[in-house]
Amino acid sequence: MQTQPKASHFIGGEYVEDTNGTPIEVIYPATGETIATVHAATPAVIDKAITVARTAQVEWARMSGTERGRILRRAADIMRERNHELSVLETYDTGKPYQETSVADATSGADALEYFGGIAASLTGEHIQLGDDWGYTRREPLGLCVGIGAWNYPTQIACWKGAPALACGNAIIFKPSETTPLCALKVAEILVEAGLPAGLYNVVQGMGEVGASLVSDPRVDKVSLTGSVPTGRRVYAAAAEGIKHVTMELGGKSPLIVFEDADIENAVSGAILGNFYSSGQVCSNGTRVFVHRDIKEAFLNRLAERLGRAVIGDPLDPATSFGPMVSKRQLDIALGYIEKGRAEGARVVFGGAAIDRDGFYMQPTVFADVTDDMTIAREEIFGPVMSVLDFDDEDDVMARANDTEFGLAAGVFTRDLTRAHRVAARFEAGTCYINTYNDAPVEAPFGGMKNSGVGRENSKAAIDHYSQLKSVYVRMGDLEAPF
Ligand code: NDP
Repeated sequence: MQTQPKASHFIGGEYVEDTNGTPIEVIYPATGETIATVHAATPAVIDKAITVARTAQVEWARMSGTERGRILRRAADIMRERNHELSVLETYDTGKPYQETSVADATSGADALEYFGGIAASLTGEHIQLGDDWGYTRREPLGLCVGIGAWNYPTQIACWKGAPALACGNAIIFKPSETTPLCALKVAEILVEAGLPAGLYNVVQGMGEVGASLVSDPRVDKVSLTGSVPTGRRVYAAAAEGIKHVTMELGGKSPLIVFEDADIENAVSGAILGNFYSSGQVCSNGTRVFVHRDIKEAFLNRLAERLGRAVIGDPLDPATSFGPMVSKRQLDIALGYIEKGRAEGARVVFGGAAIDRDGFYMQPTVFADVTDDMTIAREEIFGPVMSVLDFDDEDDVMARANDTEFGLAAGVFTRDLTRAHRVAARFEAGTCYINTYNDAPVEAPFGGMKNSGVGRENSKAAIDHYSQLKSVYVRMGDLEAPF
């Protein structure tokens, strides 16, 4: 497959290059080989993107929602038709197995384009009767949105931010993570092919400083970041300087509680989906798995058996179910946490080491006997490292589950209906799961509480974060004044 893009950036409906920008090598995580080189955006490239986006947005906002939505839905169809090649590219960009990318990335992106394409025509304000007078609201676009992505879901994030932004009549500039710059360019290409006017969906490459200069530019109205909490703090603060709208989709250290009455097979499935999908590089992962002491050994035994069946290898082989980490850096971070876990007294019950082969591979790893104060139970690892903690009592486990700065997701496995809903209500987390884990359909809001974020992506809730209301008051009679 041709992995080198035609040029680094996509601005004004076409590929744009400026080789004065710092070169960024794109590494295939399964081999460590360089598969493409792009250049970080120079100030001239950033300025061009902002200028063309702002100009294009004016006409786009004047179009009807039906017209805008039609283009997004056409783009969704093209993405589905090209799912195979987009999935292969996603695998090259991230190292995630084709078994995953073929069902979770371009497909999820297409869902977002289809959903927000469908909703665009129904965006309205409301009529407010005020006696004989009245008012109404207009739902207006924000203007120019900037999307900044993490490296774990480059196609999906590019669409989750682009689709609602465009549906509401905004223009967007998307900056992918420097680690995974390839997929967003394809999203931009497809949108233009579907009929999106030039300049409305732009992609600029670069490291954090390119993101920072976009965020601080006064011509930008909104910033949507998917990234870590420390980056979120910086970006949120920079956006606050300009009183800009923000969506912050940040990290997590989510709890997954398995009660003694849970279906163990399903609970093990949930723990696997919530810890080892995408080699554990998922923000909402339930990495603190609280297992009732009565079923702990049965749970751990079955988990180890199931993990033993993981097919680790070439991510392009459809049989492979567990791929490499995205980068050497992320591999080293995860392995560092494994050392910390061992040093602080946790017990490795599965995996625990790098895999001796080309690329950035490590074993799926499970620690048992983890206690709340251990580093591996407190910090986001963003790798395939599960911590199993014991509990005996519901009140106690709820307090421990919520005792974290994060609040992205949480899950519970139990057969007790009332307990399931009671626990979901008590979780301090934006996205909760009962007898499942890590579903993220476009129809439901996704986002974090506490330090895990601000705002919501997906669903009708996202519309509020990509549009603003204007109130218009109408006097039907004469107007009195005090003098
Ligand atoms: P980072 O926070 O390192 O980076 C996120 C993005 O921000 C990257 O594009 C990065 O560029 C850019 N960036 C870095 N510094 C700045 C800055 N000062 N101003 C503007 N942009 C900046 O996250 P990772 O890419 O390492 O992704 C992993 C993190 O993302 C995890 O914490 C994970 O939990 C979180 N995440 C959250 C999700 C959610 O929906 N809540 C979903 C997926 C991931 P560059 O890469 O070039 O440094």
